[in-house]
Amino acid sequence: MLSGLLSKEECAKCRLCCCFDSYDLWETPILTKEDVRLVKEKINKDQPFVHKEEELIFRMEKEPDRDLYYCPVLDHSKGCLMGDQKPFDCRIWPLRIMSLNGQRVIVLSTVCPAVQTRPLDKIQKKAQELAGAIFDYADRVPIAVKPYISGYPILVVEG
Ligand code: SF4
Ligand code: SF4
Repeated sequence: MLSGLLSKEECAKCRLCCCFDSYDLWETPILTKEDVRLVKEKINKDQPFVHKEEELIFRMEKEPDRDLYYCPVLDHSKGCLMGDQKPFDCRIWPLRIMSLNGQRVIVLSTVCPAVQTRPLDKIQKKAQELAGAIFDYADRVPIAVKPYISGYPILVVEG
C-alpha cells in the first residue's frame, strides 16, 4: 500500500493485493532475509518459503474450491501481520518495476480499486518521490524487475 496516497481504512476493506490467482502469482512479494527472519520470529516459525532465483517468496496454498491463493501472513480480520514492516513490493504496491527495451520503468497496476480514484498527477508525483528508493531496490533485487506488460501506465522512466 502506498502510504500518503492510499489509506489503511481503504485497504482494510479491500485486501485485493494480498490474494492471488494462478495468473498473477508472479505478483507474489519478494522477501528479503530480514522479511523472512521477521516472519519466522514473530508470525510463524514453520512458515514455508519457495526459492525464486536468489530470493525467497511465500509458499501459498491454493484454496480448496477456487483458483485463489491467500498470502499466508494475511489475517482476515487484522490484516497483514507484518504491520509496518511489510516486504518492499507490498509497500510500493500498486507501483511495479518493469523493463521496457532495456530501460527500467515504474508502472502502475490499475487493478487497485482505490488508486483508480486518485488524480494521475498525484500518483505520478508519489512515484517520482519514491523512484530513487525503488531503483535502488531493483539494483539489489533484480528479479523484482518484470518484463513490461502492455497496458501498464508508465509513471517514471529511469534516468
Ligand atoms: S488493492 Fe489497493 S486498495 Fe486494495 S488492499 Fe491493495 S493497495 Fe489497498
Ligand atoms: S505480506 Fe502483507 S501486504 Fe504483502 S501480500 Fe502478504 S498480507 Fe499482503
